Amino acid sequence: MTERRTVLIRYDEIGLKGRNRKFFEKCLRKNIKRVLSGTDDIHYSSPRGRIFLDIPLGFAPECSVRLKTVPGIASFSIGISMSPDFDAIAALGIKWIEPKLESTDSLKFCVRTRRSEKLFPKTSPEVNFEVGSRIMKQLSLRGLTVNISEAEYVLEIEIGRSETVVFDNREPGLCGLPVGSSGNVLCLLSGGIDSPVSAFMMACRGCRVHFVFFDNQPFLGRGGYDKVLSLAKKINRFQARASLYVVPFEEMQGAIRDHCNEENRIVLYRRMMYRIAGEIAVSKGCMALVTGESLGQVASQTLENLAAVSCVTSISVFRPLIGMNKESIITRAKEIGTYEVSIEPQPDCCSIFMPKNPVTRSKIHFLERDEEKIPWQELSDDALARMEIIKVDDL
Ligand code: ATP
Ligand code: MG
Repeated sequence: MTERRTVLIRYDEIGLKGRNRKFFEKCLRKNIKRVLSGTDDIHYSSPRGRIFLDIPLGFAPECSVRLKTVPGIASFSIGISMSPDFDAIAALGIKWIEPKLESTDSLKFCVRTRRSEKLFPKTSPEVNFEVGSRIMKQLSLRGLTVNISEAEYVLEIEIGRSETVVFDNREPGLCGLPVGSSGNVLCLLSGGIDSPVSAFMMACRGCRVHFVFFDNQPFLGRGGYDKVLSLAKKINRFQARASLYVVPFEEMQGAIRDHCNEENRIVLYRRMMYRIAGEIAVSKGCMALVTGESLGQVASQTLENLAAVSCVTSISVFRPLIGMNKESIITRAKEIGTYEVSIEPQPDCCSIFMPKNPVTRSKIHFLERDEEKIPWQELSDDALARMEIIKVDDL
């Protein structure tokens, strides 16, 4: 028989709690099954606020890597299921601790027990004592001491109704809420550093994030398009089933460049993007737009300019990065693996035709006067008619 391991998964916030709890748990279980698909020798169970996986030992490292891509998990541990027999648990502890004592002459340790089966005849502190003293009997002469507050090694025991799991590791998860529990949103994804991070943050709030990219291939070539494809794919690892909408934007940008005031260009591009994205969101069942804007980061992201773009659509606009500085956004981008793609050199569609002095405090009536000079409704209908829809799972 192949040796088995038990993975004990702890939820983070299971949002709204109460009667919705079952729904959130179901979402999380479904997402875990999805990331682990392709390996059929896994057994699932979910007793009392936990998810347990029974996996082959050889799958443990890969399982750990994959679980780290699932929003909604607070942490997980990989351990061994056994009967709640103190001698057997202590023997396992000794087997795990012994190698650590080979490289040091002192190690502070403790046993921590969590007992969800209250019918179990011993309390948690009693179990700690029973197991801890058996281990100490064997290993105290080799430098092992008990230290509860400063333990360098913690042997953990979870005693449930039908299973007891023993483990000595805790891996952090992505936390937040399981994808699918909040609903769909549409992220305006450029090839830059910021918008992929904001998409990731919304996935961790339980949203399935779809993407829209405003493309200008006649001016910029295919580079931006390829970059966005690869970013969408990277973010989709955390959620699956996303769509990417690619909207041809060259006609609209050309019209704004040729007919509108130069200093308003960026804000005008943005207003058009928001309008078109708003229409896509409504027709595809997305309940909010998401952007990578951060207050004051560039001229188009002042309070006045953000207000001047938000007001063109009635749909909610979320800006998860609004209060973050660039450095911490970059740190997140590196953690989620999008940074390397984002920094590949490629002009974006707002940096071409960049005005010398972009307006920082837009006045809405000046913007509206500029918009009257172009047939923007027709241009946006036409762009929507030519939109490409990509299933990111298939990439
Ligand atoms: P990013 O790093 O995400 O590109 P940025 O700091 O370069 O952000 P801007 O170029 O001002 O900021 O863009 C602000 C936001 O507008 C982006 O985060 C993105 O959400 C959206 N956006 C800009 N250009 C496009 C585009 N071509 N397609 C889709 N969304 C875009
Ligand atoms: Mg950008």
